[in-house]
Formats: sequence, structure tokens, C-alpha cells
Amino acid sequence: MIRVRFAPSPTGNLHIGGSRTALFNWLYARSKKGKFILRIEDTDTSRSEQKYMDEILDSLKWLGFDWDEVYYQSRRFDLYRKFGRRLLEEGKAYEEELFDENKQPKGKAIIFKVPAEKVKINDLIHGEIEFDTSVIKDQVLIKSDGTPAYNFACVVDDADMQITHVIRGDDHISNTPKQVILYKALGLALPEFAHLPLILGREGGRLSKRTGATAISDYRKMGYLPAALVNYLLLLSWSPGANRELIDIKEAIELFDIKDVNKTAATFDIAKLNWINNQYLKNMDAQELADRLIPLLIEKKYISADNFDRDYVISLVKLFQARLSTLNDFADWADFFFVEDIIPQEQAREKFLNQDFSREFRLFAERLAALEQFDVASIEQGFRQMVSELNIPAKTLIHPIRVVLTGKTIGPGLFEIIYYLGKERTKKRLMKWIKRS
Ligand code: GLU
Repeated sequence: MIRVRFAPSPTGNLHIGGSRTALFNWLYARSKKGKFILRIEDTDTSRSEQKYMDEILDSLKWLGFDWDEVYYQSRRFDLYRKFGRRLLEEGKAYEEELFDENKQPKGKAIIFKVPAEKVKINDLIHGEIEFDTSVIKDQVLIKSDGTPAYNFACVVDDADMQITHVIRGDDHISNTPKQVILYKALGLALPEFAHLPLILGREGGRLSKRTGATAISDYRKMGYLPAALVNYLLLLSWSPGANRELIDIKEAIELFDIKDVNKTAATFDIAKLNWINNQYLKNMDAQELADRLIPLLIEKKYISADNFDRDYVISLVKLFQARLSTLNDFADWADFFFVEDIIPQEQAREKFLNQDFSREFRLFAERLAALEQFDVASIEQGFRQMVSELNIPAKTLIHPIRVVLTGKTIGPGLFEIIYYLGKERTKKRLMKWIKRS
């Protein structure tokens, strides 16, 4: 049975790179009906923090990567020491007494005598990789404070947890020969290795905060859907073929194989992520989308939790749904339906409200008031009749009215906006503008 693990250290948040590693491990387990193991590498007690642990676990759950078993390395120190002692007894390691700056003994570390040899691994993604261990210094196995070094704990655990495939980022490739010689020294069977390509930022360098190395929990706060993010992570290093960009996780489970992962570095592209998120938002049922947006509207105090018109929100959602890149876009773009005090953006005012439209705005408000039927078609008809009587092109007024009603230069169609704002609110906004100008 296939057994894979994701082994985060709770010394930071879960970022794009880590979540892709988690995804490919989880996906491989699910696609091969194996087990996905979560191993918390919290051996560095000074750098590990509960808040990171919580953030990592929450993010994994939110992304949908459920695990079958979970282990904490901090609870397994005895096991690592036992294996350390074994190597000592077999003469494959030695002890070294360490002293602090006052030359006081600090305890003994266990150090591995690195044998000089050529190590070959057959990486499932990169193919054959050869290393020469003669350039590797002797390795600390157990530090003088009794805690294990990463490479040692990793090997002991991967063997003890019967991990069949070690799938991790390319940044660990240099650790692999150090681990292989430890397996050999302990007489343990080697797992398969698969190193995932690096993820680069837009300008080619490593992914940095500026280029997208943002915590998964931040993407969640920004209004990305977990399914869209997972779809994007998949595409970062794998393709379902035929240039397909949209794939749900169930189908990916059917199609995925670790050997099909790309060898070359991936580039993190927020525009692509936005596009994918837009596709998911666009294809969502409007009621379901509204239910996801309602908490955000409550939080912004745009609606009150115990008294709002769900159908009205659903109608507004439909107006914007096709263009949303994130859930948060909705509250940003549809704000004018929920707040009364509209302050046109500076540039919009300069561009579209640079002359006096008092007469036209007043006339339009009158026409709206006089409409027998108040629906999108009648509003449009009334408007078009008015501009033709005034003998001006429609756009001369469409943009200024939009800016006064919404504060913005872009958005849904003007007549739909007016319909959902209603006669009264539309009139009030037009009149208010007349008075201030
Ligand atoms: N704790 C290591 C990390 O977060 C795990 C590396 C591994 O998968 O072996 O990078």
C-alpha cells in the first residue's frame, strides 16, 4: 500500500509551495487508495509555535486535504535517541562533547560518520540523480540538547511510518543523499523519492512575499475558493492534458500520477489564479454564492444579520457574478447598493462630471418618477426618449449618471443599476449631486 506524508514545520504559515507539496502527496494517496500521513516536524521547540500549527492544520482542512494519521515529532524523541545509540554502538557514529562560550560542557551530540560513496537515486520526477557523499561533512544526528537533527528524524520516521514515497520540494534535493546514507547505515529499505520543481515568482526569483508567497489563510481572507486554489496548485506542476485548465479534484484523483509531474520550475502567476477563481465563481449557483457573500456583507455592516433581503442580495450577486475574481470583489464593487453616501472617485469626477448636468439630471429624475412601469426595459426606454428629445448622444449622460449613482466608472449596466437602486434612491443621489455642484 502506498503511504505518503506531508511534513510541515510549524515555524511559519502554510504558503503556496507547502500547499502544493501537501496537495501532491494527498492526491497521490487518494488516487492510489493509499494513506496520507501528516507529520508535524516540531523538533525545534524554540521556533515552533502553536499559532503556526493551528494555521497549517486549518489551511489543510480548508483545502480539503484530510489525513489518515497524524504524528508529532516532539513526542518521539525517545525513538530518535534509540536509533542514535544504535549507530553509536555499531561504531557508525561518535559522540562529541560541546562547550558553551564559558567553556562549560553543554552535553554530548551524536555525530554520524559520513561514508564516502556514490549514491544514486531514481527520482520519480527527475530520473536518475547521482551524488558523491565524499563532499558531505559528518552529520549531527542528535544535538547536545537531546533533540534530533532534521535529516535523522526524517529518516527514522519515514522508515517507522512505512512511507513508500517521499514527495517534497526540490529545495530538499541536497538532503536526499544525506538521508540515503542513513537508511543504509541503519539497514532500512529506501522509499521512492519524488522532488517537486521549485515555484518561482513572476520575475524569476524564488517566490517571495511580494510575488505571491502569501499564506494560504490570506488567500482565504482575500476571497479565493478552496476548489479554485487547489485547481491552480495542480496546474502549477501538472496538467490533465489537452491544454485543459479547469479540473475538479475528483477527476484529478482519477487522472493523476506522480510521474507525470513537470520537471521544470513553475511560475506563480496571480493573474492565472484570478482567472481560475473567476471561472469557479461564475459557474457557481447564485444562491450558494450569495450565501457565501452574506457574511462578508454583514461584516462590512452593509446588511444587518437579523434583517436583510436575501432575494435582493441574490439579484445583486447575479449582476456581478460573471466578473468577480474574488469573493471580496463583490463587496468592493457593489458597495453603492448598501451605502448611501456616494463619493465619486476623483478621476471619475474629473472625467465625467466636469460640466453642469443639473438640468439633465433633474429631468431624468422626473422621467423616472413618471414611469408607469418600473423595470429595466422601461427605464431604458424613458432614458433613450429623453436623450433623443434633448438631442444629445446617450453616452454623454450614461457615464455621468453612473458616476453619481455608484461613484465608479465601470460596473453593471446603468439601467439595471437604477432598477435595483430603485426610483427613490436614484432620485436622491441625482438631486444630492445637483445641490453640491
Ligand atoms: N519539515 C520539512 C519542511 O517543512 C519537511 C521536509 C520533508 O518533506 O522531508 O520542509
